[in-house]
Amino acid sequence: DVDVSFTGSTRILTISNQKGGVGKTTTTVNIAAAIASLGGRVLVIDLDPQGNASTALGVPHTADTPSIYDVLIDDVPLADVIQVSPESDNLLCAPSNIHLAGAEIELVTQVAREQRLKTALTDHLADLEQTLDFVLIDCPPSLGLLTINAFTAATEVFLPIQCEYYALEGLSQLLGNVKMIQKHLNPALRLSTILLTMFDARTRLSQQVAEEVRSHFTGEVLDTVIPRSVRVSEAPSFGKTVISYDGSSAGAIAYREAALEIVRRGDAGAEEGDA
Ligand code: ADP
Ligand code: MG
Repeated sequence: DVDVSFTGSTRILTISNQKGGVGKTTTTVNIAAAIASLGGRVLVIDLDPQGNASTALGVPHTADTPSIYDVLIDDVPLADVIQVSPESDNLLCAPSNIHLAGAEIELVTQVAREQRLKTALTDHLADLEQTLDFVLIDCPPSLGLLTINAFTAATEVFLPIQCEYYALEGLSQLLGNVKMIQKHLNPALRLSTILLTMFDARTRLSQQVAEEVRSHFTGEVLDTVIPRSVRVSEAPSFGKTVISYDGSSAGAIAYREAALEIVRRGDAGAEEGDA
């Protein structure tokens, strides 16, 4: 058993990296499941039209499933689209579906187009009887209006970095975007958490990337690294996170450890650093 307590306030993190395939969705669902297993109540908002987070959480997201699209475009309350993941009563998901692919364009003409998610989430949180400890937003790999909505709704940016060639490519662009959002839309936003993923201890490259990231970002990088693991990549095809698919695998252990660090750091952890 681990000693962990939740504060009673809601932390809202957007899992962002403009590169695709770096482990954003994998990190979102597994950190969410791990926090739920620690007793925290977690909402995952699937903001990627591909809907991979919804799939991994075992939540239906066909074309006629109420989804985050309806929330963003048609003002449907968030509560009306949220589903409970079969993995845990503490694990909730606002699914994406195919309609979200058009939202990027449809949002352009909406009133307060950058604030749609923030407004929906704020209204939802105010109505809740049972507090959410965490909201994790899974972003698509681009800086369009969906990602801008996530940046505007969140207070923390959670950046997964793949321990591979070109890991740091595009990072200054992401940090620039965070600064721009801070200035114009959301002064509270800051880069709070960096997680090194797909780490391969056998390669010099993984270690070089890890060292380089740790030297650039002293306060934000979690001590825990996520190993490259087949169990992690298999889990979604069973509609599961690795936490429930194979809880004793190296990937599950690492994700639980990372989740524990995130919970224990609280909001304060990253205030030493600067986004
Ligand atoms: P993103 O959301 O950034 O596009 P994903 O989370 O979908 O990235 O991950 C990209 C691919 O890498 C997926 O096929 C996923 O299963 C795989 N993957 C992610 N993390 C790991 C890991 N720790 N070990 C092995 N495969 C991984
Ligand atoms: Mg993804």
